Amino acid sequence: MPHPNDPALRCFIPVDASSDFPIQNLPYGVFSSKDGLAPRVGVAIGAYVLDLWELEQDCRLDVGELGIFAAPTLNAFMALGPKVWSRTRARISQLLRHDNPELRDNPALRERALVPMAEARLHLPIAVAGYTDFYSSKEHATNVGVMFRGKDHALQPNWLHMPIGYNGRASTVVASGTKVRRPRGQLKPPGAEVPSFGPCKRLDFELEMGVVVGQPSAMGEMLTETQAEDMIFGFVLLNDWSARDIQQWEYVPLGPFQAKAFATSISPWVVTREALQPFRVHGPQQDPTPLPYLRQLQPNNYDLQLEVELRAAQMQEPVRICRTNFKYMYWSSVQQLVHHASSGCAMNVGDLLGSGTISGPGKHERGSLLEISWNGTEPLELVGGVVRTFLEDGDSLSFHGWCQGEGYRVGFGEVEGTMLPAE
Ligand code: CA
Repeated sequence: MPHPNDPALRCFIPVDASSDFPIQNLPYGVFSSKDGLAPRVGVAIGAYVLDLWELEQDCRLDVGELGIFAAPTLNAFMALGPKVWSRTRARISQLLRHDNPELRDNPALRERALVPMAEARLHLPIAVAGYTDFYSSKEHATNVGVMFRGKDHALQPNWLHMPIGYNGRASTVVASGTKVRRPRGQLKPPGAEVPSFGPCKRLDFELEMGVVVGQPSAMGEMLTETQAEDMIFGFVLLNDWSARDIQQWEYVPLGPFQAKAFATSISPWVVTREALQPFRVHGPQQDPTPLPYLRQLQPNNYDLQLEVELRAAQMQEPVRICRTNFKYMYWSSVQQLVHHASSGCAMNVGDLLGSGTISGPGKHERGSLLEISWNGTEPLELVGGVVRTFLEDGDSLSFHGWCQGEGYRVGFGEVEGTMLPAE
């Protein structure tokens, strides 16, 4: 049987070369459809959602436990482990192949199991157990450091020795399309004698990838590179909304708190680590050499193109404001996970790790408005006199990401969010 990543595979449903969801991808999500059935697990294929619960009921798919795909999250499926993930993906790939009549020539099952994407409502794919946000792009950390501390002290002394992160809020991780209310908080702009409480004035996005952890680790135990890798189920696009002015006043000495706690948006399809395998690359050279527990032997970065578009309420079409690549990250997701567990911190099924803002070396590769507008000093002209330093009410942000194969792409769909005014 050919491997599900084989570029030569074809699906019996026509899939455009520009689609994010060819047969080589098969990302998992949670959807509901117009028929009013409860949310359940599906896989994206071209312009359709393949209903795994229907396949399971028809005895076409067996993960050893009935009802796993009738659940409103992927957590129970993820808990079954990497062997089951791999076997299931291979079976789904087989069912969708152009030369397999099983589903192709069964109109009744096709009718039940293939839901047009346009008729599906996509939900948060996982029950988020914990959310951790890292800070692992050297370009991003350097840009922010130069802005606030000057060129000579841009990186803090610890930055090159470990993936810096903090424990964020799982409660406000939301699905793409969820509208986000402008946060309120304590503000003390430069020059103000005392703080005041009010709506954030320097609202920003952060372009990140999210790692979905699919296996637990025990409290007190460290992870090797291979163990950490095996625990990663897949990846999503992640917008870590940020209130820069709230952050600036509150972050000393314990780091960000309310500035990052009001919303984090993720894309609905979890692209599996296995589907991204052909796009693995080595990350940047790490100098100084990381401590032994953080050393990696394998290429743990991905050649994954990323784009950010902004559409203000008065604009017809969005404008692209950033184009960068996940491959630039200094610390890999595997190193982040190894470091996360290194103290003895237990990891859970459904943990979400934000990569940190992804910026590249070029000016057009900056993954936040803080960097794009250089802390508000270089306003960005979008179109016809619409200018931005930070986000305004009614602005809609959308991220796209994909790995480009020969004649196909393994894509992530979209994460979108629109700003509502503060109450
Ligand atoms: Ca972040």
